[in-house]
Amino acid sequence: MTTERRSRALARAGAVLEVDLAAIVENWRRLAARLAPGASCAAVVKADAYGLGMARVAPRLAAAGCRLFFVATIDEGIALRRVLPGIEIAVLGGFLPGTGGEFTRTRLIPVLNSADEIDAWRANPRTRAFPAMIHVDTGMARLGLARDELAALAGAPERLAGLQLRAVLSHLACAEDAGARQNSEQLAAFRAALGLLPQAPASLAAGSGIFLGPDYHFAFVRPGAALYGVNPLPGRPNPMAQVVRLKGRILQVRDIDTGMTVGYGATHRMERPGRIATVAVGYADGWLRSGSHRGSAGIAGRRVPVVGRISMDLLTLDVTGIDPALARPGNFVDLMDDTYGVDEVAAAAGTIGYEILTALGQRYHRIYRGEAG
Ligand SMILES: *Cc1c(COP(=O)(O)O)cnc(C)c1O
Repeated sequence: MTTERRSRALARAGAVLEVDLAAIVENWRRLAARLAPGASCAAVVKADAYGLGMARVAPRLAAAGCRLFFVATIDEGIALRRVLPGIEIAVLGGFLPGTGGEFTRTRLIPVLNSADEIDAWRANPRTRAFPAMIHVDTGMARLGLARDELAALAGAPERLAGLQLRAVLSHLACAEDAGARQNSEQLAAFRAALGLLPQAPASLAAGSGIFLGPDYHFAFVRPGAALYGVNPLPGRPNPMAQVVRLKGRILQVRDIDTGMTVGYGATHRMERPGRIATVAVGYADGWLRSGSHRGSAGIAGRRVPVVGRISMDLLTLDVTGIDPALARPGNFVDLMDDTYGVDEVAAAAGTIGYEILTALGQRYHRIYRGEAG
């Protein structure tokens, strides 16, 4: 886009989402710096890099030294291959029947999640020649080899013969809770599983798991949300830098009297005369409706509450007492910034930062910062 077109797009934008690519790199480096000697840091960029734009995020991380990327689906892998021609990409969702050609043509690494997937990958000489990962389930009951499947494979090692085993993975269920017994149980189960499989680089920890200490680091770790500023240690100070900032534009401001109601369902009734600012962000932008009555925004260094229900394209703020020169049509309010970040927004909406990021809508005017360097 030319500068002229960009500034016109900004002038008409109802909201501006800023993604700080340098902060993502900084977070990747912070996580990598915590690792046990010899362990390396991959990056999870599934779901369009948690909503922030995989095509912008992944090349920046690759330039910073990241050598292994994880996506969820084959299509995400194909899209990532276009921007990262020479770097390892693994697909967490596994090997779907009939997709061998996609994996080999695009040089995607499947994360084989069941004995059937392993058999199918090995059965075809064309796929068998390419590297694959194996995922063992140690306590999620979601994806990965179940315990009995692993035992059956261990009892029939010919079923793994010739497999180019790039890594063995498992995934922690409670990593953000350092006190959970499940962590050490899964660690023990993972070590036992590694003993039953051919030697290969191992990986157990995602973002939060890194903070459980060096026992959990193995050959590489697979952080996602923490790269994008979500606190990997809920309830404790966030060791990550904030990555996203979101500003919503005020469309209208009105004075309203005691007893008047705001928004759908008339769920907010004014108990005093006040002023309402209507902002051009709603649940169609991923600004979750569950934040109705509970969320807030920043304006002129103060926090103002969301009142009434968040609707599809709009939310309403009580800006009573805010300088009218600031709370006026055309100006912006801060919906996410360095002091009120993705975790605070999530808490107000009764969810987690992951959901806030991956819900971020397509209507925002996006600005990427820290592209180079
Ligand atoms: C999503 C995912 C990750 C990344 O998890 P975060 O909590 O975002 O760090 C790592 N491994 C697997 C298997 C995943 O599904």
